[in-house]
Amino acid sequence: MMPAVPSSNKLANRSISDCARDGMLITMRCNGCRRQVNYWAADLLQVIEDPFHEAHRPPWGCAHCRTGEYMVMRWRIPAASELASGLTVRRPVKKITKWIWRDEKV
Ligand SMILES: [Zn+2]
Repeated sequence: MMPAVPSSNKLANRSISDCARDGMLITMRCNGCRRQVNYWAADLLQVIEDPFHEAHRPPWGCAHCRTGEYMVMRWRIPAASELASGLTVRRPVKKITKWIWRDEKV
């Protein structure tokens, strides 16, 4: 399902939480390098932590092209046949936090 022209009213647009509620799969495709990755909307919602994040807006850029400029977001409810034939979906595994150090005068 391709998004219609998004409204300038953020709340009129489909959000990540709308997609998650509907059990949707979101495909992020970069038209620069033609790589695409499938995500569960529910996973994106958990990671983005903004329930009003608009579904057509890529949450991050393409790791290969280092830009979100060519990124296209599509959402759909996956067909049972698609799930049965073995669909690859990128799932969050672990959140990494790291310490940042600085030198200080004592
Ligand atoms: Zn790319």
